Amino acid sequence: MTKLIGVIGAVALLTGGCGAPAATARDDRPVVLTTFTVLADIAGVVAGGHLRVESITKPGAEVHGYEPTPDDVKKAAAADLVVDNGLGLEAWFARFVAEVDAPHVVAGEGVAPVPIAEDAYAGEPNPHAWMSPLNVRTYVDNLVEAFAALAPQHAADFRANGERYRGELQRVHDDLVAALAVLPEGKRALVTCEGAFSYLARDAGLTERYLWAVNAEQQATPRQVAGVIEFVRAHAVPAVFCESTVSDAPMRQVVAATGAAFGGVLHVDSLSTPDGPVPTYLDLVRHDARTIAAALTRDPR
Ligand SMILES: [Zn+2]
Repeated sequence: MTKLIGVIGAVALLTGGCGAPAATARDDRPVVLTTFTVLADIAGVVAGGHLRVESITKPGAEVHGYEPTPDDVKKAAAADLVVDNGLGLEAWFARFVAEVDAPHVVAGEGVAPVPIAEDAYAGEPNPHAWMSPLNVRTYVDNLVEAFAALAPQHAADFRANGERYRGELQRVHDDLVAALAVLPEGKRALVTCEGAFSYLARDAGLTERYLWAVNAEQQATPRQVAGVIEFVRAHAVPAVFCESTVSDAPMRQVVAATGAAFGGVLHVDSLSTPDGPVPTYLDLVRHDARTIAAALTRDPR
């Protein structure tokens, strides 16, 4: 009953409560602008319709080396809150946020970072902290706090949404670990284009190997390709993967040289459009866990 009253209340708000058609109602909810689609989805769950949550980068777009447009700057200046991931994900963000002077919260603040092991980025925090659903609980806590400050009248809802989502994150984590626990010793290597799976590999007890550390150049050097080929051969890795936002051409070279299977496309830096395979963050984690487990347990070549 309470729920029904809530729905009626929301409809009344949308229509101005005087029979005006919803389409012409002014949307005067506070605007939250996030840097990428994964963050927008998580923020949207916490906001639960009380805030208008948008993403600067669109589904399928690259986020690391994005170049903000004048329109992005305008949007951010008009936003009530700007949310970034932090941990060095958005190389462009410091300059961007300095330009717009909008209130801003770092969703990944407080996550214990896993350092990048190789390449020019060695020692810097790996930015892909959301690839551990357990880390996303910290994102949720930061968002609940920021949203409660932004719209205090909805603070209780933000907290309840966050609490419910924390439960879902725990379940998705448990399922991920269970799906990958079946991999036998010696088949527990995750080979990808970008080194985006350090947190997932840690959670699931996999060894991570990749062509490049961070999607910036998105082009593997011959030395990087040769290194991965050597690793795949040495460990008889049955399948290798690449991510949706980059070219898989270098990984196809690894496939051709080693006879390993191409295990599929993994999603990290972007959600898909609503009709695609990973319209939400929880879908993204489930999809990747399923794809990895299926390819690595397939019959040996
Ligand atoms: Zn990335």
